[in-house]
Amino acid sequence: MKSIATLGSHCALQVLKGAKDEGFKTVLVTKTSREKFYRRFNFIDEYVLVDDFKDVMNDNITQKLTEHDSILIPHGTFISEVGIENIEKLDLPIFGNRHILRWEADRELKTQLMQKSGVSIPKTFNSPEEIDCLTISKLSGARGGSGYFLSKNPEDYYSHVEKFKKDGIMTDEDVLQIQEYIVGVPVYLQYFYSPLKNELELFGIDKRYETNVDGLGRIPSIDQNELKLSPTYIVIGNLPLVLRESLLVEVYDIGENFVTASKELVPPGMPGPFCMEGVYDSHGKFIAFEFSARIVAGTNIFTTGSPYSYLTHGANMSMGRRIALEIKTGIKNQTLDKLLT
Ligand code: AMP
Repeated sequence: MKSIATLGSHCALQVLKGAKDEGFKTVLVTKTSREKFYRRFNFIDEYVLVDDFKDVMNDNITQKLTEHDSILIPHGTFISEVGIENIEKLDLPIFGNRHILRWEADRELKTQLMQKSGVSIPKTFNSPEEIDCLTISKLSGARGGSGYFLSKNPEDYYSHVEKFKKDGIMTDEDVLQIQEYIVGVPVYLQYFYSPLKNELELFGIDKRYETNVDGLGRIPSIDQNELKLSPTYIVIGNLPLVLRESLLVEVYDIGENFVTASKELVPPGMPGPFCMEGVYDSHGKFIAFEFSARIVAGTNIFTTGSPYSYLTHGANMSMGRRIALEIKTGIKNQTLDKLLT
């Protein structure tokens, strides 16, 4: 009997609860330090203990997961802790397209895929000398949302870089991506694409609650100026959101175009969950600054289903459960190969 496995972090509870609800055996690969926490939940059948998440690459761990006939569900912590190179050679079946994870991590490939999908993206500046509007500069490689700064002209940019270097946040080797800063409201669109039904589902929508940027508005501007506070974007949690219904038509188009583009550029495309991350500007136009090519932690809000998953599936359909349902259908129809890489 096949089992569903994931690493103990990010959205593991939601994924394994959903797998259990669909009748699967569930396996958690957890750090020993978190074992006590995860044992509080009765829907986890097997525990594979590691000292470090990278240990999932070790033969004795992959062997245990193979004995459990596990399908591994990738998530954000899996990518950041195990690393793209390792994931590409990991000798275990992974749900979704493991090759597209590199396109999520590499800023140039990411931009290429977004451009191919036709979604609007912020202007990118190749050199700091070209900065002529409010920009956000991002250090390469996700650093938990802390390696960012805003600047409005080259002088401003260089003074931030100097401060970052002085504070040890960046070195001379680090590369910054400079993007136009879109003033508006950030929105995260959570999708599921079923290759078995050839259908896209909008699953949920959230916004992130980020420190310290979401706290800056609580400090009077006079004090902000004096303290010279810079925004950081470390995600602390997520809040649910519904969009004006008239915006949903375009939201489906954005998702479908992304699925089409990913099939062309990174076969087999984008089976399973993904997320388009952007800002609605002052004209109500969606401008995407990122995508995630796997389940995002914002889906944890909807462990009992979201307003949108309710419309498609009825009650209690979480993203984790939707993944398990797709795998179950693949097993029944002998089409599992369309879902795994
Ligand atoms: P990221 O790591 O690219 O997801 O960005 C972290 C946060 O920075 C996002 O949640 C947004 O709040 C903000 N952000 C990133 N890029 C932009 C942009 N081009 N315009 C406005 N805000 C942005």
